[in-house]
Amino acid sequence: MMEEYSKHRVLEILEKEYRGAATGLVFRNPFELLIATMLSAQTTDRQVNRLTKGLFAKYPTPADLVRLSEEELAGEIRGCGLYRGKAKNIRAAARILMEKYGGEVPADRKALMELPGVGRKTANVVLAGAFGIPALGVDTHVFRVARRLGLAAGRTPLQVEWELTSTIPRNKWAAAHHWLIWHGRKICRARNPLCDGCPLKECCAARAGGPEKVQNQTQQKSDREVQQPWTDRPDR
Ligand code: SF4
Repeated sequence: MMEEYSKHRVLEILEKEYRGAATGLVFRNPFELLIATMLSAQTTDRQVNRLTKGLFAKYPTPADLVRLSEEELAGEIRGCGLYRGKAKNIRAAARILMEKYGGEVPADRKALMELPGVGRKTANVVLAGAFGIPALGVDTHVFRVARRLGLAAGRTPLQVEWELTSTIPRNKWAAAHHWLIWHGRKICRARNPLCDGCPLKECCAARAGGPEKVQNQTQQKSDREVQQPWTDRPDR
């Protein structure tokens, strides 16, 4: 495992390169971020934003969504992947928000994770993005990039989250989530990472021949394997 000083160097570079990075999802309140994040599995931020613009204009509250049938909601979000399952989960989640929380989104991880279709990653994204509560969501990009860089070695998103939150100062958890996502989208892609132009190439564990090799069959298999724990995983 990488020495602590090297991890700090990696984080320094990530912060410098991706300072100010934020979610690409457009939202105005916790409810909108929750729904947008639920919609984002296997769908790009751009597609989600295109859908939610109309959806939130017509149905701005959980009460509005509950009044739709599952089929009607599925029709509203047909442009995104897995839309039937998402419609079912979103409608059920909206109902619980109405019945248990007076139409508000709870600022509590356990309560969020009890909503259908909401896993730990989505709960963390909502806690950090909508409430400013320190949390670090581990999606497929965060998982892959953190392991390649030697910031974590865990085999599950939860293990990686624990490792990252043990290393990264609490006040930077939310930002680090975005640094790793944007690095994964722009440079350290699952396939064909752009190592030659990577600002982290001098301190990357994978490039140095660490346990997490850069782009080989083992890596690709590993990425597929770890996707399974994310029922709400965005891969964009
Ligand atoms: S050097 Fe390659 S594997 Fe390492 S972080 Fe950069 S792009 Fe990813």
